[in-house]
Amino acid sequence: MNDTGFIGYVGSPAVHDGILLRVCVEGDSVEVVIQGYGGQEHVVLFEGVDSVEMKAPEGMVLYSISEMRATPPLRKFVFIKSEEDHPGCLSVWAKDFCILPKLEYPCPVCGYSDFDEPPWSSNGSPSYDICPSCGVEFGYQDFGRDEVERRNRWHDLRQKWIGSGMRWSSSVHPLPPDWNPVKQLKKIGIEIAG
Ligand SMILES: [Zn+2]
Repeated sequence: MNDTGFIGYVGSPAVHDGILLRVCVEGDSVEVVIQGYGGQEHVVLFEGVDSVEMKAPEGMVLYSISEMRATPPLRKFVFIKSEEDHPGCLSVWAKDFCILPKLEYPCPVCGYSDFDEPPWSSNGSPSYDICPSCGVEFGYQDFGRDEVERRNRWHDLRQKWIGSGMRWSSSVHPLPPDWNPVKQLKKIGIEIAG
């Protein structure tokens, strides 16, 4: 890794080319309202906020929100603007964030749910995303001609993953600080004795 500490972009599709409308700080949460490219409003909600660095961020056209390295359990999020000459800036140090309205597309194998699209679309084409939690690449390991076949594959892959100790698979995506595979499985209706 390089010394800029860049980890990755977060919430990119919702944020890219959006306009930052306002920032509300309340207790240890910060709400950032962004008007997306398509006109709809998204709220980026930071929780467990430790500090905020902000200078007139309203009106910033966003390129991205970048996650930078920070000292756990804090995460550092920097709002990157696409116009260099806008005077604003915004960085947030928080434990977690989410984007509302939040669409959840959990991994059908392990329940991990930080995907921007479903693993298989309704017309039957896979996303080819790789689940950082269980390591399954949708459209590859879970290939099935229909939903029934895919469900069987998911079941087998899940048993394998559980059997091998439910380990975080990705070496690229850092392990989320509060990651709990048992809770995650519960979200897709799989109960295992914790
Ligand atoms: Zn998974």
